[in-house]
Amino acid sequence: MAILIAVLVVGTGSAVLAGSLDRDPAARPALSPAVPSTTTSPVPARSHAAAVIRKKTRLGHSVKDRPIAVTEVGPSSGAPTLLVVGCIHGNEPAGIAVARDLLSDPLPQHVTLWVLPDLNPDGVAADTRPNAHGVDLNRNFPFRWRRIGHRGDTIYSGPRALSEPESRIAHALILQIKPHVTIWFHQSDNVVDESGGTLAIERRYARLTHMRLARLPRYPGSATGWQNHALPATTAFVVELPQGPLNARGVERFSDAILRLLR
Ligand SMILES: [Zn+2]
Repeated sequence: MAILIAVLVVGTGSAVLAGSLDRDPAARPALSPAVPSTTTSPVPARSHAAAVIRKKTRLGHSVKDRPIAVTEVGPSSGAPTLLVVGCIHGNEPAGIAVARDLLSDPLPQHVTLWVLPDLNPDGVAADTRPNAHGVDLNRNFPFRWRRIGHRGDTIYSGPRALSEPESRIAHALILQIKPHVTIWFHQSDNVVDESGGTLAIERRYARLTHMRLARLPRYPGSATGWQNHALPATTAFVVELPQGPLNARGVERFSDAILRLLR
């Protein structure tokens, strides 16, 4: 599924997070790190060194053949994992800047971030919510999927679950890395959504960003609904950013909170 396009080992860090979350890098397939999903918090330290890496992987292409890539930054093993998806609805792109900011910061030592800035590059290019097939990717995941709307509607589920290359890419990545926490950025409700994972984690992100925490409707075929069902020991939630692009300070507010979330 994944084609490696760049590997850059930028140094080693003291991996303070070991114990039951530990992984053996030697036993790990180069592109298929298996991360235990049975806990959402780090385990106390044991002296053990893991490389701190920055690794970009091209996962596949959108309907219109635009590349979709994820970058892994942080300890190669032993740390909790956090996936950030900057954009799934093309006309809600503010989270892309938050994702990119995480990639420009110093490499984290306490958490392994998987940063996927843009899952819907065709939608972003066209400034449309759906992908180039007219499908709302956040109604295309295989939990409580049902057919909604038709092509041309604002919200169209697609003809079947995972009918779209973009949703298949995210689905495969998530099953591969089983992130302890996943944040999906949307706009523009300006709220952290209680999306069905561990409420304490959602609440903590809301506190760190000074956002309101609220429960938005849970839609059939949503990415977070599927994740929280398929990987029940993990937490996936939606962050609805404010309207419009974030300024530099706003970007920092949301990216710093990601880095502090699992401390
Ligand atoms: Zn959205």
